[in-house]
Amino acid sequence: MLSPQSSLTPSLQPRMLRVKEGLKDGLEREITYLRLSVTEQCNLACVYCKPRTGVPERTPGPTMDRHEVIHLAKVFTSLGIRKVRLTGGEPMLRRDLELIVAGISPEVEGRVHLTTNGIHLARRARGLRDAGLSGINVSLDAADRATFQRLTGKDALGRVLAGIEAARAAGLKAKLNTVVLKGWNDDQIVPLARLARTEGLQVRFIEFMPYQGNGWGQAQFMPAAEILAQIQEGLGDPLEEEPPVGLEEGPARLFKIAGSTGKVGVISTLSADFCEHCNRVRLTSRGALRTCLFGDRPVDLLEPLRNHASHEDLVRLIRETLREKQDCHPMRRGEPAQPGTGMWQVGG
Ligand code: SAM
Repeated sequence: MLSPQSSLTPSLQPRMLRVKEGLKDGLEREITYLRLSVTEQCNLACVYCKPRTGVPERTPGPTMDRHEVIHLAKVFTSLGIRKVRLTGGEPMLRRDLELIVAGISPEVEGRVHLTTNGIHLARRARGLRDAGLSGINVSLDAADRATFQRLTGKDALGRVLAGIEAARAAGLKAKLNTVVLKGWNDDQIVPLARLARTEGLQVRFIEFMPYQGNGWGQAQFMPAAEILAQIQEGLGDPLEEEPPVGLEEGPARLFKIAGSTGKVGVISTLSADFCEHCNRVRLTSRGALRTCLFGDRPVDLLEPLRNHASHEDLVRLIRETLREKQDCHPMRRGEPAQPGTGMWQVGG
């Protein structure tokens, strides 16, 4: 059985008391949700994520080791972060992922979640659950094998479906994420909604977001309203919208499916964004603090940590950076998202 203590060296076992004052940005938005990338590497080459031009293969600088990941996560949780999502790149490419989960989980009362492509999920779901993981989001962009391969570059649909089954059998709350690209997988919307209905799953359809070199264009963009109309027509029953959940549960608008425990959802980052209520902060696998998924100035926390910065110094740096968090993402102002950076670097 993994224990958080066994995963930390004595010198990196800070006892961080929760400070009274939580984390707020300059616009008084309360920041309670950390998206923590543990690697830039990925074992898929999804057309909407992997850049074709204008972005270097990797970000310069070292990747945080697990003690550093856990240490910085603890600094954030001491500031009132209530939920942590591990992401990447593909987080399951890290062999020490279970140790990372075990190190963070007690700090957030078990609210550690994971976003994964599910390729290695079947054999690790139980271990991750035992380490303290509570929920998992699996990216699944097609219910059809050939379309899956065309989008991701790998003939691995069967492995991902087996991973989802294993995660559910292990008692992990599993949700599916589908990025919709017109002309690529919009014909998969209804089959995936049917999968949600028959399997009692939650499938959330995400609007395709622009990143440098990822081939985004209006022709490939499908707004959430259009996605919902397709689902409604395909399933043949009216969808009933659920009352909004807190943003810590995610920004999706969710809809019940008649006669099933399954749900469908839409995440409308572009057509109706949720920046006014943004509660997120991000830490990249290189230890850079980022205040937005799209476009901001990364602030390095890893170098100060390696140079023995005190807890108070790190807290000050985080607070100062959060004060500059923008009111909305750059695309709303008509500016490009994050020139020279890919989503796999920021941590999607
Ligand atoms: N490898 C993991 C996975 O596949 O879920 C985690 C990293 S991935 C970058 C995290 C999420 O970002 C996935 O749900 C993925 O589909 C989404 N994503 C990546 N590029 C996107 C884009 N251009 N538009 C919308 N969502 C995107």
